Amino acid sequence: MSLLHACKVSKRYGGLQALDDISFEVEQGEIFGLIGPNGAGKTTLFNLLTGSERADNGHFTLGGERLPAGPPHAVARCGIARSFQNTRLFRELSVLENAMVAADARARTGLWATLAGTRAARAEEAACRASALRWLDYVGIAHLADAAAGTLSYGDQRRLEIARALAGQPRLLALDEPAAGMNATETGVLKRLLERIRADGVTIVLIEHDMSLVMAACDRIAVLDFGRLIAQGTPAAVRHDPVVIAAYLGGS
Ligand code: ATP
Repeated sequence: MSLLHACKVSKRYGGLQALDDISFEVEQGEIFGLIGPNGAGKTTLFNLLTGSERADNGHFTLGGERLPAGPPHAVARCGIARSFQNTRLFRELSVLENAMVAADARARTGLWATLAGTRAARAEEAACRASALRWLDYVGIAHLADAAAGTLSYGDQRRLEIARALAGQPRLLALDEPAAGMNATETGVLKRLLERIRADGVTIVLIEHDMSLVMAACDRIAVLDFGRLIAQGTPAAVRHDPVVIAAYLGGS
């Protein structure tokens, strides 16, 4: 069953056609890879999907419902969470505090301030803390809860970003190059985490340049090149597609 549907999505920046009439479907419960050379339009597609930029044409549906074109918090409420190519953590705050901000959006809306000092506020905070700790444990970094986020290794920062995204309990997780800067061991840990997230029923769209991770973790892959969708299929089919080899994979 299809969860996400991109329907004829296009985006132009001045004279550059960043995305040209892109359509694809992501099945419920799969890891769907989005690959292509630098500048192919992958991050632009995430920006349109998550409402931080607006498409010139086309739209997305999630579970058959048309997603709003923005703002991002309206799209997030529909069940889409994202991580960024460059992590967006509060570097001075602890790992736990970073996760708590995500675990309870009320921490950001000021409701806590109005409740401050009341028993209700303390109960809310305890529940939020417990939830945040559960997500840190889920991604394997609960032991780092008290460390400042900025002191974490690159791989652990990426896992904290994923914990923050999961704390919103999304139906679909959009990850932008989660393995960037990771060593082989960290990438192996990431692969197992992605498989666990999928097993727990969250669909993943994965932008990634690490081809061994893409080929090993993804159920299906779409390939973008100069804003056009040039191929899609299983890792085995995409790997042997002459058009993809010429545009992107080369000898790999
Ligand atoms: P990478 O793998 O390097 O991250 P990408 O596939 O994610 O690349 P995008 O970042 O989506 O590619 O960029 C697609 C094209 O659109 C590029 O040519 C980029 O320079 C251009 N582009 C992206 N955002 C803007 C913008 N805000 N204004 C103008 N051009 C933009």
